[in-house]
Amino acid sequence: HPAFDVHAVRRDFPILQERVNGKQLVWFDNAATTHKPQSVIDRIAYFYEHENSNIHRAAHELAARATDAYEGARERVKKFINAPDVNEVIFVRGTTEAINLVAKSWGGQHVGEGDEIIVSNLEHHANIVPWQQLAAAKGAKLRVIPVDDKGQVLLDEYRKLLNDRTKIVAVTQVSNALGTVVPVKEIVELAHRAGAKALVDGAQSISHMRVDVQDIGADFFVFSGHKVFGPTGIGVVWGKREVLEDMPPWQGGGNMIADVTFEKTVFQPIPNKFEAGTGNIADAVGLGAAIDYVNKVGIENIARYEHELLVYGMQQLGAIPGVRLIGTAADKASVMSFTLAGYSTEEVGKALNEEGIAVRTGHHCAQPILRRMGVETTVRPSLAFYNTFAEIDLLVTVVKRLASARRNG
Ligand code: PMP
Repeated sequence: HPAFDVHAVRRDFPILQERVNGKQLVWFDNAATTHKPQSVIDRIAYFYEHENSNIHRAAHELAARATDAYEGARERVKKFINAPDVNEVIFVRGTTEAINLVAKSWGGQHVGEGDEIIVSNLEHHANIVPWQQLAAAKGAKLRVIPVDDKGQVLLDEYRKLLNDRTKIVAVTQVSNALGTVVPVKEIVELAHRAGAKALVDGAQSISHMRVDVQDIGADFFVFSGHKVFGPTGIGVVWGKREVLEDMPPWQGGGNMIADVTFEKTVFQPIPNKFEAGTGNIADAVGLGAAIDYVNKVGIENIARYEHELLVYGMQQLGAIPGVRLIGTAADKASVMSFTLAGYSTEEVGKALNEEGIAVRTGHHCAQPILRRMGVETTVRPSLAFYNTFAEIDLLVTVVKRLASARRNG
């Protein structure tokens, strides 16, 4: 395969030149958000300089340019996730809004008293709380697929949870706290066999692996633009056409209507039915540019290189006395959560920050899985394809220094 040139791709990301505390920035907080290549930054500026208009509603030239740019981004998303139909791609603010949309609209219609909703123990709060709220409102029950001590979902336990009251199964494809890659295809297939729908949270998978929504087979796939080198404030709900067409709109207003009288409103077909009001047009266009960028680098190249980095990082970190790796699934992506004996995770994070290294410390909006692993917080370096082996060496050097200071002092 063609050698992946990390130094070439790094030059595409201006912020990677930033200095922090007098040191070269090392960005290991990619699970929280990713950086933006110059092409994305330029595309958003170009939109405001040459295309800015509201979409759909006007006959003038800029409205046509803005509409073309926005719908061009939708087309890019469609191809990127291999959706069968561009109208199945709905723009929202991000993964959180996406899951709330599905829980409120689909859940509001289909989940009733005594019904069951299944999530996994690995979920981000964004894929727990909306379902919990729905369950509380409807008198339904939230059930949880357990994990083993490595952080891998227990499929046999999952099979036992499924029954004819199961209405929807909502699981992440990659855990943001542990990095576990979840066998979503199998989980979706079992959900469908039980007569349930399935939602896959792609917030952490979209930038690390080839996503093919037809292959996964779920009814909904959701992700955030900012986790895949695009801007904040834009994300996607992909849903199967027949499922989306059946769902009521969740917000009402302009853009989503075909005809309004005081007696009755006729809604637009999908996707507009779910895009009430003026959307985040510029950032949708920016997301389209991010997808172009990822396609240019090649998602397979990204996945292969990141896997090498991850294996190296896990080995190096795991060899430091006092380090406990949290989440050691056989199939992992990007995330290397750990704790260091004798230090709070916050102390480790601060020491790393002094060296210019950005990692997240805390509960990562996934408290149930950290508690399952016996901790409240972790230090969480998370990788992207612009990270280097040298950056991992630097991280390891600082953690080693902390570890030996504690042992010697
Ligand atoms: N799900 C997962 C797995 C995530 O990692 C995140 C972001 N940390 C979210 C959902 C929520 O995404 P957002 O904050 O962009 O809505």
